[in-house]
Amino acid sequence: MFGALFLLGALHFSGCSDDGGGGGSDGSGGQPTASGSGTSGSVTSGDPGGTTSTSATGGTGGSGTGTGGNDAAGGGGSDPVGPAVDSGLPTPPGAGDVAKPSGAPGGFKVIDWAGFAGAVSYSFDDSNSSQIQNYDALNALGVPFTFYLQTGKNESNDPVWQRALTDGHELGNHTKSHSSEDNGSDTDAATQFIEDKFGVRPWTMAAPNGSSVYTGIARTRFLINRGVSNALIAPNDNTDPFTLPSYIPPTGASASVMDEQVTSARTAKRWRTFCIHGFNGGSDGAYQPIALQAFVDHVEHVKDLGDVWIDSIVNIGAYWLGQKAVSSVTGTQAGGGTTWTWQLPANFPPGKYVRVTVTGGTLTQNGVALPWNPHGYYEVALDPKSVTLSP
Ligand SMILES: [Zn+2]
Repeated sequence: MFGALFLLGALHFSGCSDDGGGGGSDGSGGQPTASGSGTSGSVTSGDPGGTTSTSATGGTGGSGTGTGGNDAAGGGGSDPVGPAVDSGLPTPPGAGDVAKPSGAPGGFKVIDWAGFAGAVSYSFDDSNSSQIQNYDALNALGVPFTFYLQTGKNESNDPVWQRALTDGHELGNHTKSHSSEDNGSDTDAATQFIEDKFGVRPWTMAAPNGSSVYTGIARTRFLINRGVSNALIAPNDNTDPFTLPSYIPPTGASASVMDEQVTSARTAKRWRTFCIHGFNGGSDGAYQPIALQAFVDHVEHVKDLGDVWIDSIVNIGAYWLGQKAVSSVTGTQAGGGTTWTWQLPANFPPGKYVRVTVTGGTLTQNGVALPWNPHGYYEVALDPKSVTLSP
């Protein structure tokens, strides 16, 4: 498999290829920000999934009507309930009128994909000029993307990347020189570039040419290394995050060809990542370019489905890995309650959450009861590494 991928990489020599980079993000893990600008539309934190209108068609949509990352209404009863937090997670489909569970304490379970049927991430490699030229149209789609910067390219100095970060997209590491060989220094040079230029740490990377040398390099530096071998990722599965599967659309892929990749992920209730190098046009020869309009039509279709979580690699990846971390531990009984205590993977971004259901009882973290969200869950912060369910 990798042999074929290397061959693909060797067949084009424009400095871009079929591979990944590393994702960067701001200190909070690259959450979308609701910094709606009036002209181009910006990503809203509330709804990458498209369940509320974030349309920015015609360049006039602004930030849409994002409802914020969560709209938790306080829990009922007399328990002291903490204030609703901004988990950064999008609002899932549904009417939002699910009653707070009132049965016996139990049934603790992390829900898949934050309450969506499936998930998709779109990543763009190589700092290609056609990405820069079409940034406004991409951003107007109102969903967070991941841009893997090849920092040795002059295009990485374009001011568009700062805008992308401000608009809520993820900036990731695609190394400085895009070599299939590295002892770590070329990867670290790209991280240094991103930290110096944007003041944020890249949490994920994408391996140039899909080279397997980056699997080991990323393991000590990143949460995720996106590879180039297409496969679906399931909740709690054993997919290696340091060679995360990704789908590369063929040259000139139609919207329907890309739609099929998301439809199959949604049907299987799994996560698909896309690796896209650029669009027709541009001055630096994107690998397997596609038509901008086909991509726009595709993303609009996925948004219209309403139940697919569209977000950056770091945001969905942190949920996937956070769910695994919490789900892998057994609760311990003490004082009438049950406490789950977990460990997070290395290089895990701060400020991340998972959504949890129970059959009843009160969930607390750091002594504060969590508010019930009428979309059907509690939001559990991962950083405290512990949650307790009490009667
Ligand atoms: Zn590349």
